[in-house]
Amino acid sequence: MIKTLLNLFLKPNCPLCNRPAHTELCDYCERQLLRCRFPQNVKFATEVPLCVWGQYKDVLKRAIAALKYDHHTELAKPLGYGLAETWLSTPQSQISSLTVVPIPLHAAKLKQRGFNQAELLAKSFCELTGLSLSAQGLERIKETEALHQLSAEQRLKEMQNVFNLGQDFRRRRPQGSVLILDDIYTTGATVKAAISQLQQAGIPVAGVVAIATTQKSVISNQ
Ligand SMILES: [Zn+2]
Repeated sequence: MIKTLLNLFLKPNCPLCNRPAHTELCDYCERQLLRCRFPQNVKFATEVPLCVWGQYKDVLKRAIAALKYDHHTELAKPLGYGLAETWLSTPQSQISSLTVVPIPLHAAKLKQRGFNQAELLAKSFCELTGLSLSAQGLERIKETEALHQLSAEQRLKEMQNVFNLGQDFRRRRPQGSVLILDDIYTTGATVKAAISQLQQAGIPVAGVVAIATTQKSVISNQ
């Protein structure tokens, strides 16, 4: 009884609903989270191959917000692992020598937040997939406005010269190709800017992985 009570006090509660939790989330939120997950073999009408864990809505949306804005960095583990499982179920995961590059934050934003959520997610992702991580593959040299408020043309302009090669790739180009990782894939403008920077440096990009997307899937079965 005392032990159970102690456990209740020692274990942090669920960051989303404050109920007691055995893992990062409580059983209830974990079940709700799984309801956001895409079915296997889901596909998107994007230029670059995109692999996403779930739809950006409900509990998944709240979990990403808790990670980014409320410092619940422990959530990077279940989210990153979930994405890794999804990735490992795709035929693309057979590509050898891939280097995972998280979308970087601008230095000022990084200082303000204290961590880059995409980097934390990429760490968990690489733990499970065994892929190598290059956290400094890209560098963000420009802060961008909230893209969803802009027109397509403004967005394109805003995304010019946002990224540079980071110190990892300036020192040594990766072997094989790059897999870009971001927390949320919305318009694809950020990812496109990152890809164009890598391609200009002669680094091929195999695809993009993201925890969540606002994009609608086009095919849910092969
Ligand atoms: Zn909960």
